[in-house]
Amino acid sequence: MPAYAIASHYLNGSPIRQTYLETAIRWLASRDGKQIEDYMAAHQHDTNCNELWLYFQYVINWVEATFPSYRKEMKGLEWGIFFNKFAMDNHDPKKLEERVGELMEDEYVTKKSGIYEYLLDGDERHLSIRAFTTKMAREAYERQKGICRVCGKHFEIEEMHADHITPWSKGGPTDANNCQMLCANCNRRKGNI
Ligand SMILES: [Zn+2]
Repeated sequence: MPAYAIASHYLNGSPIRQTYLETAIRWLASRDGKQIEDYMAAHQHDTNCNELWLYFQYVINWVEATFPSYRKEMKGLEWGIFFNKFAMDNHDPKKLEERVGELMEDEYVTKKSGIYEYLLDGDERHLSIRAFTTKMAREAYERQKGICRVCGKHFEIEEMHADHITPWSKGGPTDANNCQMLCANCNRRKGNI
């Protein structure tokens, strides 16, 4: 496949050489902790762009080996940044593909494009797990009579957050039965565990 045809699967922008080039340079510069401008300055006398082109091919090869089934949600992700961080990790493409499939179907995952980064670093925030409705939060607040389930102190509803009793990652649904109200501090501490 020609280079631009490959690139168009994974990169945003019109298929103009410059757009892709800038993205690739940004990724490569980021690998070395540099800005695009630093990279350009350091390479302004280069007579070819072999380093950049090779790097870009590494990135794409890694993406295709790690997530072999292409989905449109893969377009426009920061693949080079993922490559820089996670290419040395040992991933099982078969297991990853299974998880991608499950998460694509999971109605609680509202940001499907975040699935890939989530599978690489395990941070649920990439998925925008569906939030409780205002009604569910109000009901839980009334049930608890405004008392935080963790610290036992009373708060106004505006000072509290709706929380999954059984976490989404352990199969907990975003419904009224699985909703509890925690004060902002307790909620933050829970999130950090
Ligand atoms: Zn509390």
